[in-house]
Amino acid sequence: MTIERLLPGSALQSYPPPDLWDDWREYDVKAWPRRVERRYLLVPTICFNCEAACGLLAFVDRETMRVRKFEGNPLHPASRGRNCAKGPATINQIHDPERILYPLKRAGARGAGRWQRVSWDQVLDEIGARIRKAFQEGRRNEVMYHVGRPGHERAMDRVLKAWGIDGHNSHTNVCSSSARLGYALWSGYDRPSPDHARARFILLLSAHLEAGHYFNPHAQRIIEGKLAGAKLAVMDPRLSNTASMADFWLPTYPGSEAAVLLAMAKVLLDEGLADLDYVERWTNWREYMAHRRAGEEPTFAAFVAALKDEYRAFTPELAQAESGVDPHRIVEVARLIGAARGAFASHVWRGSASGNLGGWQVARALQLLTVLTASVGTPGGTSPSAWNKYKPFFWEEPPAHAQWNDLLFPREWPLSHYEMSFLLPHFLKEGRGTLDVYFTRVYNPVWTNPDGMMWVDVLKDEALVGLHAALTPTWSETAIFADYVLPMGHAGERHDIQSQETHSGKWVSFRQPVVRAARERLGETFRFTYETNPGEVWEEDEFWIELSWRIDPDGALGIRRWFESPYRPGEKLTVEEYYRWIFENAVPGLPEAAAREGLAPLDYMRRYGAFLIESDVHERHAQPVHVPAAAVRDPETGRVDVEGRPVGVEIDGEVVSGFPTPSRRLELYSRTLEEWGWPEEALPGYIRSHVHRDALDAAKGEMLLLPTFRLPTLIHTRSGNAKYLSEISHRNPVWIHTGDARRLGIATGDLLRVTTEIGHFVNRAWVTESIAPGVVACSHHLGRWRLREGEGSRWSTAAVRLAPHDSGWLLRQVQGVGPFRSGDPDSSRIFWSDGGVHQNLAFPVHPDPVSGMHCWHQKVVVARAPVGDHYGDVYVDTKRSMDVYREWLARARPGPGPGGLRRPLWLDRPLRPTEATFLSPPRPL
Ligand code: SF4
Repeated sequence: MTIERLLPGSALQSYPPPDLWDDWREYDVKAWPRRVERRYLLVPTICFNCEAACGLLAFVDRETMRVRKFEGNPLHPASRGRNCAKGPATINQIHDPERILYPLKRAGARGAGRWQRVSWDQVLDEIGARIRKAFQEGRRNEVMYHVGRPGHERAMDRVLKAWGIDGHNSHTNVCSSSARLGYALWSGYDRPSPDHARARFILLLSAHLEAGHYFNPHAQRIIEGKLAGAKLAVMDPRLSNTASMADFWLPTYPGSEAAVLLAMAKVLLDEGLADLDYVERWTNWREYMAHRRAGEEPTFAAFVAALKDEYRAFTPELAQAESGVDPHRIVEVARLIGAARGAFASHVWRGSASGNLGGWQVARALQLLTVLTASVGTPGGTSPSAWNKYKPFFWEEPPAHAQWNDLLFPREWPLSHYEMSFLLPHFLKEGRGTLDVYFTRVYNPVWTNPDGMMWVDVLKDEALVGLHAALTPTWSETAIFADYVLPMGHAGERHDIQSQETHSGKWVSFRQPVVRAARERLGETFRFTYETNPGEVWEEDEFWIELSWRIDPDGALGIRRWFESPYRPGEKLTVEEYYRWIFENAVPGLPEAAAREGLAPLDYMRRYGAFLIESDVHERHAQPVHVPAAAVRDPETGRVDVEGRPVGVEIDGEVVSGFPTPSRRLELYSRTLEEWGWPEEALPGYIRSHVHRDALDAAKGEMLLLPTFRLPTLIHTRSGNAKYLSEISHRNPVWIHTGDARRLGIATGDLLRVTTEIGHFVNRAWVTESIAPGVVACSHHLGRWRLREGEGSRWSTAAVRLAPHDSGWLLRQVQGVGPFRSGDPDSSRIFWSDGGVHQNLAFPVHPDPVSGMHCWHQKVVVARAPVGDHYGDVYVDTKRSMDVYREWLARARPGPGPGGLRRPLWLDRPLRPTEATFLSPPRPL
């Protein structure tokens, strides 16, 4: 069987053909020049090392039944057989001699480093009993699940809904919620899905070709687009690898991006390059005229004049003054964007959106260009994410819960797009609540989040966090403060469904434990996945099913029933049955495709790992909707309601589906922002960042630190356990422009002290022309540390001492990375001694008052390190960090909003509760 037959259009042929995947033979490259044949079972799975969910093919040795390597899965519709360095490095993670192999329970004080091995049964019984007690006592909001690396397409929501708790917390507000809010306010969809391959012009506000969002699947298609003639512009203060491949590098001063985008919008409007027919048909301009220009005639011509007036100030010269970018270049790029009408692909995710106060307006401003060029949902344009992402449904869906957890969605941020996750320790310290059982899942807030010492404080306090269970494949700076450390599998050791909006198709893929799948292919049977993983490494799917049964053994709490088999009523659900039902019933076209191969749907996914549901998904907003005669049409928006529920919008006399916004149109004007306390931001706009030049005191030597990029081989916490990746990238010096370095008398390699609002860190300088003047930059994902031996990977962590110092804490490296003895001979060959510097620890929290996103950029003073400073030092003043939190808290404009709501009903939120729960309870007198 050929790859072309299973994935039409694939040009790749130099892969093992699928009909040989049961017995693939090749020579062992390590035995060269001898010809030693190895025989493999090839089993597909999904990479777990970033969100892109590329396909992997595990080579399971038929002799030893061990995985010998991972390569790309040519049948995966997004990655098409290609991977970045992090995909094949999965082999390091699963054979890592430093990994956690068995469940552990602390045997001394929390954080004291004493552990005992326990059985999974004991873990389940003890945690299950504690959760049951909390539920029986009505303390549902004291149980929280906090996810770092997501996965589990809808599975975890189902678990938490079955438990009836508002207990989902995520990492999103230190990642992407700012850009998400900007997109959601336009269209109701919170992510973009650019069709790079067919674009005529591509504008990236991130580093997609090296490390951006969905970067391998996107990078392939950006290059395809370029090869077909598209032009590429990159807005980035850093000459990233992506910027180096661009036709236009726009090195904007951080935080000025929206000003440049609005100047481009002004060029489109002034020079007649905007598609005004499209704007008239699809935007809610009538609402704008009714609410903002009430005295004027509500014509489209008046609206266009008003829009030009709104953006009159955004001249290329103003954009230059804010950004430092040549105004002629801004105009040139704007004209090319206009010329790409209908095929303008763009993307912003982290970068400028996540770095700056008001970063969500960067996404609003970028989407304005997409709308003005009529590129929403077109071939070569930018679609809403949901059109390209598959989500499963289940045989039975637990009802929405009726809880509202103020630790997650507090009243100060009624529009926060996700949970205010990084403020959890601050809220707990303020007495806003306590946690009885707290799960962290592949999440390392002590190291990843700003203000990590606040997390240490809270995690050590058993009065605030009663029980902490860390579900993690590796040791982390957070797991050491757990009561239970529960080893969970990497890619190739667990089940998941994965689907992402990587291009203009829709696909589903299947992560699976490859050794279990290989052995089952040979006829063996297993009860649990940990029977085939290294040690007793487990997977979450089975863990949550088992735990739910322990919480509710007799079914009295109404929880157990959701974890019963759809095939064997009353009996416990197995992981095999869970996926079998979804693949048999909830993936359009899969059963038929499987039947053509003579396979059951689950067997098809086990064998091939991925399925293309649809290709060329476009223009979903223009699909006709049939409505009954009783439908009601809103005269201002054209929205059509049936029985009080919006079903579509009337465009040119026809009812079509539109967008899931209040007007069902693209909301150029946001009545939501107007009504919820932000009228000045109701149009796509420009908010001066907290690190705007005017906010920096040049006399004090203040500069801007950009900490939001990463080296392309890094994976937050998990690259530390991949020896290939640690070898490639193990230091994160401070990028500093040659002019700034000259002014400060600094040379490459000099030790710098970088002073933030709450402390400082000490790192070496890298003097370069590749960063904008006045800006310094430092890659995150490095600077891992361990307090004690056995509690951190020696491939990547420095041994440190953490001790009280002045009014805070000083973290000091006592030993760098070096060779060590283990079962892997490579560990004795480590040649590097540097593991980088942990900068995030010295950052205070900066919650954006609208999106709730942590605004990562820092105001810093950079100077030569004084005598006594050591490389890797991090000092944090924890009292000052609480003060900075309160300063930013004061910027928020609390709810409730119109109608006494805690949050607009139309803005979605994770683990959405019942509608009644959105109503704010009366405040006590
Ligand atoms: S881009 Fe790299 S790390 Fe991300 S899923 Fe693909 S192979 Fe894995």
